[in-house]
Amino acid sequence: MGKVGLGLAVGCAVASCAIAAVMVGRRVRSRRRWLRVVRVLDEFEETASTPVGRLRQVVDAMAVEMHAGLASEGGSKLKMLLTFVDNLPDGSENGTYYALHIGGTNFRLLRIQLGGQRSILGHDVERKPIPQHLMTSTSEELFDFIALSLKEFIERNGNKNNQVRGKDLGFTFSFPVKQTSLSSGTLIKWTKGFAIQDMVEKDVVECLQKALSRIGIDMNVAALVNDSVGTLALGHFYDKDTVAAVVIGTGTNACYLERADAVIKCQGLLTASGGMVINMEWGNFWSSHLPRTSYDIDLDAESQNPNDQGFEKMISGMYLGDIVRRVIHKMSLESDIFGPVSSKLSARFVLSTPSMAAMHEDDTPNLSEVAKILEDSLDIYNVPLKVRKLVVKICDVVTRRAARLAAAGIVGILKKIGRDGTAGITSGRVKSGKSGKMRRTVVAIEGGLYTSYTIFREYLNEAVGEILGEEIAPFVILKVMEDGSGIGSAMLAASNSSQGQSQSQSVDTVVQVL
Ligand code: ADP
Ligand code: MG
Repeated sequence: MGKVGLGLAVGCAVASCAIAAVMVGRRVRSRRRWLRVVRVLDEFEETASTPVGRLRQVVDAMAVEMHAGLASEGGSKLKMLLTFVDNLPDGSENGTYYALHIGGTNFRLLRIQLGGQRSILGHDVERKPIPQHLMTSTSEELFDFIALSLKEFIERNGNKNNQVRGKDLGFTFSFPVKQTSLSSGTLIKWTKGFAIQDMVEKDVVECLQKALSRIGIDMNVAALVNDSVGTLALGHFYDKDTVAAVVIGTGTNACYLERADAVIKCQGLLTASGGMVINMEWGNFWSSHLPRTSYDIDLDAESQNPNDQGFEKMISGMYLGDIVRRVIHKMSLESDIFGPVSSKLSARFVLSTPSMAAMHEDDTPNLSEVAKILEDSLDIYNVPLKVRKLVVKICDVVTRRAARLAAAGIVGILKKIGRDGTAGITSGRVKSGKSGKMRRTVVAIEGGLYTSYTIFREYLNEAVGEILGEEIAPFVILKVMEDGSGIGSAMLAASNSSQGQSQSQSVDTVVQVL
């Protein structure tokens, strides 16, 4: 080999060594980047974990807090509000009833025809968006719109105003209300974007009743309920073993049937049935046993209601997508596996929970739905398959925790009323040991997160079984009640009909009894 040849050979060797070194270096750096992201995931998974032991602590905390909320006003973060519903539908109701449901941006009008023997002969529902400007106008404008919509709904269903004269109306109003009887209650505060100042502390039913008479509708608002109470009513209509109801949609809440004498803060509370439905407002539940991560802390601090609705912020549809967005953001700051840091990653709520669920449930072999949603919602492009898998894993951790915590909440209610197979609680203390005979127990569930997100539903059902154990679990049945919140209030109007047997006593009567 000549000099030139030798030089060429040496040059080639040096070049290939350099290329090899660059490649090794790149691989090492890429491995390090990957490991950093894996560390973020591991840490998140660890802090958010919900082993059954921790869930049982949450169960106990829920039962204890329920007791505290019933013992005194302000005794717990759980408000445990009286609903004055002591007479749940039992299927014997007859006749045509109307209901209105305001709970968010959509407003629903319903008409049901009940035929006795647990039968619904007819059922019409109409949804109508509430015009944005009415959400911040005056109570009169809002209720005139509602009353007018009802008038049109009645006419569209082939009836004249005089045909509904004197009929009972159910009203589902899913904002915090302090009830004074089944058919009266004052608004505590607006949520979900509504801000009509002149409404606060006003009687909600009075506002509706006045608007109805302005528009010439002679109907009687017989039941004012929130969405979880409506769901319980529908559940009980179909199955008398229904003792509690849970809503898991944009927000989350629960109610259950309590013994009147357990409502210590309202001593002497008399009801014909000896029971009363309690609206827990469980979204505000808090316990140090909840597996809280740094992402939850940030989400809360940046929210419109810091230190409020802590349980809801870990569970409900309004927030799950945003927790996932926060984890991806953190990973993106730690490493460039998502490419340059997308500005969308710092924007709250850009990743909705339905989009997150679609990624989680993506069953295409190369996770093309994940790739599409990362592009559409977060401006993140061309991520390799292993990064898409990582995103699915984040969705899984967030959803699994949410579903399992909701399950623990449900078992907490069962524990409070002695339907979890244990000795329950007395005087605010959890008793150990087993109870005697277990009875069939039904919990009604409603809300888009539970009904439309299959993995969430499966995780929740599985966790209830896991916490209760295989001996007790077969006695507890979770039943979906589609549209329960609205239909249920029409049924409560029926079972508490003014022509019928309204048996709840107003606060005034209770005070007289005292
Ligand atoms: P609301 O709670 O406002 O009364 P819904 O009970 O219909 O209404 O619940 C709607 C919420 O449920 C949405 O805000 C969303 O978070 C969640 N949701 C709806 N569909 C899905 C879905 N396919 N996957 C995951 N979450 C969903
Ligand atoms: Mg709802």
